[in-house]
Amino acid sequence: YLCGKKKATDLAHMVWKHVVKKGDTVIDATCGNGFDTLAMLNLVADDSRKGYVYALDIQKDALDNTSILLEESLNSDEKQLVKLFNICHSKMEEVVPRNASVRLVAFNLGYLPGGEKEIITKPETTFLALEAAERILMPGGLISIVVYVGHPGGREELEAVETFAARMAVENWICCKLHMLNRPYAPVPIFLFRR
Ligand code: SAM
Repeated sequence: YLCGKKKATDLAHMVWKHVVKKGDTVIDATCGNGFDTLAMLNLVADDSRKGYVYALDIQKDALDNTSILLEESLNSDEKQLVKLFNICHSKMEEVVPRNASVRLVAFNLGYLPGGEKEIITKPETTFLALEAAERILMPGGLISIVVYVGHPGGREELEAVETFAARMAVENWICCKLHMLNRPYAPVPIFLFRR
């Protein structure tokens, strides 16, 4: 599956398909250009209009890009199922309804492709957001994190994610890391935490 120019996110999407069901509520913690948001919407959208994607980003440009992609790709009923928020992902509990059963929280860390490379996810807020995801996720749900280490600050963020994973209760969580062995200089690890 990872032959040629396949991306780590393709593998993450493949895993999501085995976890997420029609009608689920899911969170895109870093919506960026909207590709993950769209992939998630395609997994949850059903005719009863119950599945929701909560898509968060700190950059207005990212939300604009996501809106444009959704506008081009979805019909008006489907668009209603995506809720966009211009906030830090550490505040996800402020926008996702308390009674929502959240099956997936996905992070695609780093900077906005095509945007300003200085605006990146940061270890401190990523750590807080992972704590919020841990609280909000339903049993059987998944936290998915794609980490990039090639930019300044990327290594520190990888360490924060690994530190977070190492302290998750083994009674409640399976925490795994996938590593692209055929990209030794830019491995793009994927973390999967299954509750
Ligand atoms: N998932 C996106 C897609 O499919 O196009 C790509 C995400 S991009 C690699 C990372 C995004 O995280 C950027 O758009 C950036 O603005 C956003 N970001 C940075 N810090 C954030 C924070 N504290 N909370 C939410 N989003 C943040």
